[in-house]
Amino acid sequence: MTVLWARQALLADGWRTGVRVEIGTSGTIDAVVPDSPPEGQRIAILLPAPVNLHSHAFQRAAAGMTERRGPDPRDTFWTWRKLMYRFLDHLTPDDIEAITGCVQMEMLEAGYAAVAEFHYIHHQPGGTPYANLAELSCRIAAAAAETGIGLTLLPVLYRYGGCDRRPLGAGQIRFGCSPEQFVKLLDGARSSLAELPADCRIGVAPHSLRAVGPEDLAFAASLAPDSPLHIHLAEQVAEVEEVRAYLGARPAEWLLTNHAVDERWCLIHCTQLLPDETQRLAASGAVVGLCPITESNLGDGIFDGVNYLGAGGHFGIGSDSNVRIALSEELRTLEYSQRLRDRGRAMLGTAEYSTGRALFERAVGGGAKAAGRRSGAIRPGALGDLLALDGEALDLAGKTGDEVLDSFVFAGDDRMICDVWSAGRHLVKGGRHIRREDIVGRYRTTMTKLRARI
Ligand SMILES: [Zn+2]
Repeated sequence: MTVLWARQALLADGWRTGVRVEIGTSGTIDAVVPDSPPEGQRIAILLPAPVNLHSHAFQRAAAGMTERRGPDPRDTFWTWRKLMYRFLDHLTPDDIEAITGCVQMEMLEAGYAAVAEFHYIHHQPGGTPYANLAELSCRIAAAAAETGIGLTLLPVLYRYGGCDRRPLGAGQIRFGCSPEQFVKLLDGARSSLAELPADCRIGVAPHSLRAVGPEDLAFAASLAPDSPLHIHLAEQVAEVEEVRAYLGARPAEWLLTNHAVDERWCLIHCTQLLPDETQRLAASGAVVGLCPITESNLGDGIFDGVNYLGAGGHFGIGSDSNVRIALSEELRTLEYSQRLRDRGRAMLGTAEYSTGRALFERAVGGGAKAAGRRSGAIRPGALGDLLALDGEALDLAGKTGDEVLDSFVFAGDDRMICDVWSAGRHLVKGGRHIRREDIVGRYRTTMTKLRARI
């Protein structure tokens, strides 16, 4: 059993002091007792650690390499995607495992206890399946075995190059599966989790309404009926237009009309919604997966957080392209996008809670739900997904209650994070992952070789 004692902790029912937290060997919190005498590991500030609900780990390797204006007169998401696809011709299974390990380590150091990996590269360059159809899913699981992150693995069903069902383009050839292949791949991916701790789990991710047909979406949803179901919904204007041209409705409108969208669904991006779609999504119980840093980097647009949260909608945070892995910055970017658009302040705060508190607590709750993970708050029965902030950090010294989270989100950064536990596994100590040297060494070697090949 692990015993922690926190000078202040954000519990399910609010801030408490002198909190004793007991975590059992299964990784579940057994007891939470405020006003306790100090015993066990002393912590200044203890928070529930969020899930990073949307990642494509391999894209980290291209961070900083796609910021030059391309040959097209207007550089857009679609020119970025071309560069990303070229990159894909060179990635080996070892590369993917090494990059993913580094990404997961950085996520843990940023305060995320778990990740939902939206995993869509399945085959060899050229499109031939590996001898083990789920080879690359196994590599994601192997990375998680090393880093200890709580993994929700989301194998992606990807069939077409667009809504007109054109064949996959050269850059997409590693993604495609027939429904029969996908069933086998999902089984293989599920088996790969057998080596991981019991909190790791499987879900399903039909890629988008561009990449799967309506019958594929229904098929994917039927494969794992009790598991998380994630889909990219409405990120780009051109995507919305394409879906409307072929399905007769905008993506959110079509999905809400044709599927019983509920708590099992996680809808990624949603940067292109009309006001009534925002209201309907909020009422559905689904989680919207926001990736504010990537959405800024790609020029996707601004999510209508004010009306969505005002209507009681659930959201979580993902690092998507992993161009930068930074929990506090994701939340800050989300809030600042609303301020810049509406020319106001404290846009996502509430009458009861400060902006930092409202953002953090809702992102933690939504992320857990989207990952199908028994976490999201510090309470008995929840997984021990926890993070500790350094009470001596310049901007945290002397702060209590919601001001702690406001300082973390708006004045500080992830260097304030000193310890992180994933289902009780103590993986970050003193701000550094316990296997940092090995993981970083392998990543450096991988990247040197990869750059030479590209
Ligand atoms: Zn994505």
